[in-house]
Amino acid sequence: MALVPTMGALHDGHGSLVKIARQHSEAVLASVFVNPTQFAPAEDFESYPRDLDADAGKLATWGADALFAPDAGTMYPLGLDGVRVQPASHLLGKLCGPLRPGHFAGVLTVVLKLLNLARPAVAVFGQKDYQQFRVIEHMVRDLHLPIELVRAPIVRAPDGLALSSRNAYLSATERDEALALSWSLARVLATYLEGERDTRALARTGADAWGNFAPKTASLEYFEILDGATLTEVPILEGEGIAAIAARLGSARLIDNVALAPDSPDRPLLACAEPGSARSRVR
Ligand code: AMP
Repeated sequence: MALVPTMGALHDGHGSLVKIARQHSEAVLASVFVNPTQFAPAEDFESYPRDLDADAGKLATWGADALFAPDAGTMYPLGLDGVRVQPASHLLGKLCGPLRPGHFAGVLTVVLKLLNLARPAVAVFGQKDYQQFRVIEHMVRDLHLPIELVRAPIVRAPDGLALSSRNAYLSATERDEALALSWSLARVLATYLEGERDTRALARTGADAWGNFAPKTASLEYFEILDGATLTEVPILEGEGIAAIAARLGSARLIDNVALAPDSPDRPLLACAEPGSARSRVR
């Protein structure tokens, strides 16, 4: 069986995970659980969008066989202060690691619980949460978990914005402004594909694009070019690199990334129009 863990408020990105899961298994189980232990007190656990009926309908349309939507008491029978699975610290030095202390321990804890409860042969996670994927991948290998992990590409709106449950927090104006994330990443990927491997040059490209396209009201948390496997800074990219961005627009904190590799799954992003042009506004 293949497992697709989610926090609900499902969109077509989740749908693609279900379809990819189906390619790996006869049976697909999706879970919907807004995991309290991965949210810091000041984060959006309470306001996170929830609509289980709509989620169940979408999962049926996408062909999932079953939905597991436990409550917190089921997932944390001994209370929220129980065991935590601690991620390898060397994967937490960059990106969301320093900004969201405890977040990835909450993620690993709930993922290990879900794997133990469902015992899937395969689990599908999105590249959208790149650091999350690397941290889970490390846990699976380090703890000898008998499971195949599948990384699913990022599903985007036609104008390039990565689909996210948190896009629901954006006003119409912020929704347009949010294209600054995907557009800046697209510039980095284009520069990479032209042959640039120097991470400082790639970071400059990204910073310039962000400077040109981001609204003044947006606040950038990070824009980093790292080695993808180790999530550390390197002068020159050799294996897969990652360009990753996090920014706040209004009440939304958005993350996005592109994989920097000759066969990057993010190449389709390059076909999106520049923000503000007529084509990018078609939705
Ligand atoms: P979430 O419900 O946001 O926790 O996401 C559940 C799973 O869906 C995670 O593995 C995410 O990486 C993945 N995911 C979220 N957004 C997208 C997207 N736009 N495209 C593909 N996968 C996604």
